[in-house]
Formats: sequence, structure tokens, C-alpha cells
Amino acid sequence: MKAAQVSPKLIDKYGLSGPRYTSYPSALHFADDFHESLFLQDLKDQQAPISVYIHLPFCRTMCWFCGCNKIITRKQDKADRYLDYLAKEMLLWRSQLTDVKVGQIHFGGGTPNFLNPKQIDRLNALLRCYLPLTPDVEISVELSPDVLTEDQVWAFARLGAKRASIGIQDTSPVVQEAVNRPQPMECNLNAVKWLREAGFKSINVDLIYGLPHQNRDSFKQTIEDVLTLSPDRFALFNYAHVPWFKPTQKVFASDVFPNPMDKIEIFQDSRAALEAAGYTFIGLDHFAKHDDELAKAWNNGKLKRDFQGYSVTEAQAILGIGLSSVSQSPNAYRQNIKELDEYEAALDAGHLPFAKGIALTEDDGIRRTVINRLMCQLKLDFVALSKELNIDFDDYFATSLADMQALVTDGFVEFTDSGLAVTELGRLFLRNIAMQFDAYRDRQVGRCSQTL
Ligand code: SF4
Repeated sequence: MKAAQVSPKLIDKYGLSGPRYTSYPSALHFADDFHESLFLQDLKDQQAPISVYIHLPFCRTMCWFCGCNKIITRKQDKADRYLDYLAKEMLLWRSQLTDVKVGQIHFGGGTPNFLNPKQIDRLNALLRCYLPLTPDVEISVELSPDVLTEDQVWAFARLGAKRASIGIQDTSPVVQEAVNRPQPMECNLNAVKWLREAGFKSINVDLIYGLPHQNRDSFKQTIEDVLTLSPDRFALFNYAHVPWFKPTQKVFASDVFPNPMDKIEIFQDSRAALEAAGYTFIGLDHFAKHDDELAKAWNNGKLKRDFQGYSVTEAQAILGIGLSSVSQSPNAYRQNIKELDEYEAALDAGHLPFAKGIALTEDDGIRRTVINRLMCQLKLDFVALSKELNIDFDDYFATSLADMQALVTDGFVEFTDSGLAVTELGRLFLRNIAMQFDAYRDRQVGRCSQTL
């Protein structure tokens, strides 16, 4: 596929702040006046097994680019205490959700492999004791290769994990030094070797473009390096520079970043190299081997998007457990408390550690479906959506469609017989296209990361 040409004029015009649309509305709009009972009822109504996300927040060192909710510590016993509180939270949920089954679990962080093998075994016991797992529950885990040991991999295998996502970001020592994440290639090679030996059936590699000191040549080398690992999937994320929200990012001088045109070229080079190596480009920023489930879901129009990015999950609800975790149901989002002492205090008092959330209005639900469809299928069928959402699509989105004309003129979108389709050029501006359907667009300007 020939790379789409992007002019500096388009970059100036569309280099805006905007959400990544892993949720709609974005987490910026969660509020503390949300009634949790709505979310609980939604969860209780689930006939199919739900997904569970468990947040393990500890990391040994701080990566300066990081946008996650994490706690930096070298005290291993903090994880023992945290497991005590995860057990309390699981018990509370279990008492609320007597008829619900759990079909998928994902461990994110922080660094889940901050836990030592003994602590991972305890986590395994907690899951089996307190969560109503289906016999074929699917378990996945995020891992940091720089601190991973073979014993930890086997402990996660005992826990039932079959999928792993490893954070590499960039293999250049210059970039790694600038972001405070030294990670020799040997760590990545070991991680993949141990995971394959332990029977993990799917390995994803996370990369980030837009980091300090990256350039086209350096990132070409990164892609060459990571291809030697032959993972099943890649996520190639655009670095989110939000220093007003993540103050540690202020450590970076403003002139160390690749500019938006460089970033687009880095992305296009990477896409070409990954496609040439047998990976399918999926949605906004994912790649998967042609026979991978994610690529199949993409080709069949069955791809899903949620807080963890693109997935094939069928679950209508995700229950977040642990510090700062986000839950999602058909009609609401809710988030746990972010501060560890407050999280513990809520559980000590016998309360679910709720911080904030949002109940979706009918309009939110309609726009969530439309934006999700766009992010997952790159097209909208107005007739089918009118029927599915019980609206007259052209009428309901008259303003969005009028505004869309500018994006048609700029070559991002084409109107078709059945609706609209994103062009090859438009894939680079997918977040901008989705923003046309976002009712909160004007209220989040300057609060999100840059789209380019
Ligand atoms: S290891 Fe991951 S979660 Fe921890 S600081 Fe680094 S990027 Fe953030």
C-alpha cells in the first residue's frame, strides 16, 4: 500500500487536542455525583459472562513518559498489603453479583510483574476463591520485560494467563535513557522465549512513537529489532504528552520531540515495515498477524474497542477492580478511587471504593455506538445505524454531516451509497473524524493529548 501524502497545511489544521475514544464520553467527564446503583443493576442484568480488569499499580522506577496510574516503590511488602485489599474488594463485588460469571480477566498496571512469584500465586488463589470464573476463563497480563523473571512467567502461567502484552516502547538506548527506561534487547528476547515456553498463545508488543529523540532512522531500527521477536500483535501508540495532567512529563524539554510531520512519517514507515512482515493494520494503531483473532475480527467487522484498546471480547460489561480501575457497562462508566490510603479506607469501612462515574444519556449511547463503529470499522452505514439506534441518522447527525464536508474536501472521508467511509489518508486523522460526532468536543479542547 502506497503511503498517503500529508501536507503541512493539513497538520496545522488538524493537529488538535482530542480523545482516543477508548470510551465515550471520555474519562474527563466522569463526576462524583454518579449513582453507583445504576452500574450495579447493569452488571446484575448481564446474562453473558463479564470481563474483569484488575489494576496492579506498583512499579520499581518511573518512566518519564508514563500516563498510567501507578505507585513507584521498591518495597515488595506493599504488594502483600495491596492483595489483602484486592481480596476485600473482590468479596464486596461477589456479595453484590451473585448470578454473574467472569469469562475474561485482564491484569494491567503499573507493572503486574512487580509481584513476585509467591504473590502471583496468592493472587491466583484469590481469583479462584472470590470470583465466579467460567471454566474456560481467558486471562491476559501486561508485563514489563526489564524486570521480568522466568519464575514470574511460570507463576502467571499457573494462574491461567495465556495472553501477554509486553511494554517495549522503543529499543534505542538514546530514547530509553531520555525516558528513564533502560531495557536491553536481551530482556525482550528472554521475555518472549519464556512466554512461549510457558505456553502463552498470544504475545502483544507495545511501542510508542513521538517520544524524545526519536527520528525516522532510529524508529526503523526499533521496528527491525522488535520484528525479530515475531509477536502476534503490535500496538503502536501515539505518545500522549499531557504535562498538565502528568507532571513528570515536564522533565522533557520542548525541543526534544519529533514534530507532527516526523511523527506521521515514523508511523507510515512503521506501518509499511509491519505490513511487509505479514501484519494487518487494524483500526487506529494496532497490527496483528493475518491469522490472529484480532485480524480476523477486523476483517469480519467484529472488532471491539474499550478501555484497553482494540479487542475481540464479546463482554458487554467490564468490572474494574483495584486502585483507579475503570468499569464499563451498557449504560454507565465508573471509576475506583485513585489514592491508595482512600481506597483502603473505603474498603475498611465496608464500601466499594467508588470515586466517580457517568450515566450515559440516550444521546451518549447513540454517539458511543457511532464513534465505536467508526474506530472499529472505518465506515458508517446510515441506514443500518438508523434501524439499530431507532433514529433518522441523516436528521440526527445533520450538523455533524454538514461539518464533515470539510473532511471530505480534505480527502479524509468519502460519502458512499450507504453512508460514509474513511479513506487511506483519513486513517491518519481517525480521531479528528470521530470528533465530528462528539457532543463534548468543545468542552475538552486543550484537556486531551494531540491527535497528531
Ligand atoms: S513501567 Fe509502565 S506503568 Fe510503570 S512507570 Fe513505566 S510505563 Fe508507567
